[in-house]
Amino acid sequence: MINFEYSRVSSVKAAVEALAKNPAGCFIAGGTNLVDLMKKGVTAPERLIDINKLPLKQIEDSPAGLMIGALAINSEVSENEVLREKYPLLVMALKAGASAQLRNMATVGGNMMQRTRCTYFYDTALPCNKRQPGSGCGALQGYNRMHAIFGASDKCIAVHPSDMCVALAALNATVNVSGPKGDRKIQFTDFHRLPGDIPDKDNTLAKGELITGITIPKNNFTKNVYYLKIRDRASYAFALVSVAAALQLDGNNIKDARLAMGGVAHKPWRLTEAERFLAGKTATNENFSKAAELAMKGAKGYGHNNFKLKMGPVAIVEALMKAVSLT
Ligand code: SF4
Repeated sequence: MINFEYSRVSSVKAAVEALAKNPAGCFIAGGTNLVDLMKKGVTAPERLIDINKLPLKQIEDSPAGLMIGALAINSEVSENEVLREKYPLLVMALKAGASAQLRNMATVGGNMMQRTRCTYFYDTALPCNKRQPGSGCGALQGYNRMHAIFGASDKCIAVHPSDMCVALAALNATVNVSGPKGDRKIQFTDFHRLPGDIPDKDNTLAKGELITGITIPKNNFTKNVYYLKIRDRASYAFALVSVAAALQLDGNNIKDARLAMGGVAHKPWRLTEAERFLAGKTATNENFSKAAELAMKGAKGYGHNNFKLKMGPVAIVEALMKAVSLT
């Protein structure tokens, strides 16, 4: 681990100014991913700007929706009564993520900023365009069992590891950020990006910007929701494939549907074509299978992860059936 400077800030303005003065620095909150990356030499910030004292831990419900501060702790968000009642999909996704110990440390903003768990990214002896642009992608011809089947490029086939973010993408959340040029909002589905030619860039934050919170618009997905996570061990593992499914039902008719997948792309993968197909249909296994077929269009395996091409549609149908059964 390299030497680094450390400072603590107590306002959003001070945090943004501190990063502007130290462009080779970065913010730290729970540190559950960043410290590992520093220990392994994957990243080497010259200064850590500790933002834990910022007043960004609020969870505020309003008629328009829910605002969650970037420093709200994952476990506290998942136990919040308002969320359990009105945003159960997010609660299920949060509880599926990481381990209880990690959820007690990790923040909402940090969850969004966590980096891929591609093993080549974490091993500095191996080529990785995300860690070292231009060095190549070890996973493309290597062991790529955990990797993407959607939206990958010839530079990177990594996946985003978060569960929480899959639910937030399905729920049309917005990301609130502050930066040197002021405040702005980013649609959650636009926050994480596909690798393209610059896989080292995970998201659309501009230089020096800080996530201050997320907003979820009020919705009617309070009953028939399910977050299905398929992983190698139930206690603590990243998703091979996950599905966030939310249905608004009128009897057996689908008034509205939301679907997103995790473990399959460089960003939470929203299934809008399948959602459109389901709206107005009856909630049947047959319609769910057709939706899954639409959702998997364009999926491509890279060898070791070809099983995801079969697992994906099965998981979509299963998540939808589970959501219906919660009526
Ligand atoms: Fe690096 Fe991406 Fe290739 Fe993994 S998939 S080795 S993160 S470039």
